[in-house]
Amino acid sequence: MKFNIRYFLILLTGAVCFLPSVAMAELVARDIRIGVHRDKTRLVLDLSGTVRHQIFALADPYRIVVDLPDISWQVPAAARRQGGLIAGLRYGQYQTGNARVVLDLTGPGLVVKSVIIPASGNHGPRLVIDIKRSTRQAFLAKLRLPPKQPRPAPAPPVTAKTKRTPSQKPLVVIDPGHGGVDPGAIGISGIFEKRVSLGMARQVRKAILKRGRQRVRLTRVRDSFIPLRRRVAIARSAGADLFISIHADSIANRRVRGGGIYTLSENASDKEAAALAAKENRADLIAGLNLKGHDDEVTSILIDLTQRETMNYSANFATTLVPELRQLIHMRRKPHRFAGFVVLKAPDVPSVLIELGYLSNRQDERMLTSPKSRAAIAAAIARAVDNYFKAQKL
Ligand SMILES: [Zn+2]
Repeated sequence: MKFNIRYFLILLTGAVCFLPSVAMAELVARDIRIGVHRDKTRLVLDLSGTVRHQIFALADPYRIVVDLPDISWQVPAAARRQGGLIAGLRYGQYQTGNARVVLDLTGPGLVVKSVIIPASGNHGPRLVIDIKRSTRQAFLAKLRLPPKQPRPAPAPPVTAKTKRTPSQKPLVVIDPGHGGVDPGAIGISGIFEKRVSLGMARQVRKAILKRGRQRVRLTRVRDSFIPLRRRVAIARSAGADLFISIHADSIANRRVRGGGIYTLSENASDKEAAALAAKENRADLIAGLNLKGHDDEVTSILIDLTQRETMNYSANFATTLVPELRQLIHMRRKPHRFAGFVVLKAPDVPSVLIELGYLSNRQDERMLTSPKSRAAIAAAIARAVDNYFKAQKL
């Protein structure tokens, strides 16, 4: 994976409004609208109160990020997500106390106006943002302004993995893919992968605890955004003996279905696995994460491919898991594949990523949203976990 990204942070002039919040009550976003005008694209966010907001832009790909305080999102699912200069948009929690809207632009564009219009008549307060097409040069020139915004929380330092005491049961860390401002894949019925993965992770926790032979921890327990490397750091600092990342894919061809299990490898086993890893590795970019400093971090935390042992354990678990899941899930032709997933790169924690199926396929989506089949899949994963540790006499 290579994030060869020019990320720059700036605060566009006039982008911060220090209007006081009208009330301490929870702030609600009721709608998000895109208006395409001849000379600009306008984004309107209907809110229950006035807010402070900050806007910055990220290049390659061109994005505009709007940071807001915590918001309860009650935007209609059918709200338009593209138009004019906006190729796509996402919204959701970014970190505690901080909601975020990320706009993917069709090309370089500058925010020429961003203003809160106070409530009047039938209208509640609105945040209005106007974007005009610009040249790449102008976009980058704006980005070169010195950053005035406080940096996002730094990545956790890389420390030695926490060790389990002999009396403790092995620890399994379950990682529900995506979350918050990063919805992941979107299902045929409009369900988000982030919800499916969290629901499934909770079920797996329940199933493992029911068998009673391992401890369990989740990397996230709510709809929040967690950067990929922080997920790895959570597993290591908790002293994980096994890390299981849970996902569900989507694809344009709605007939494609089936699950797959992935483990880390420097060289992907095939093009499809490589493409999937590249897609999953985009999560941080999708959330508008400031990727500064990642290169150093990558060198220190990331795989040392000499650590074959961990990779062998990961492969062992995948081999144990395939026959268990096969009884319940339609599996891809090659059910165990290899690729460079960032989230699997803890050098000392055996890690697998499960793609449970395709949310773009009606049957798979039904299976992944039905409580009954979810429970059965969770029980199968828990059995495989048990067998894996038994084989190691843990
Ligand atoms: Zn995913």
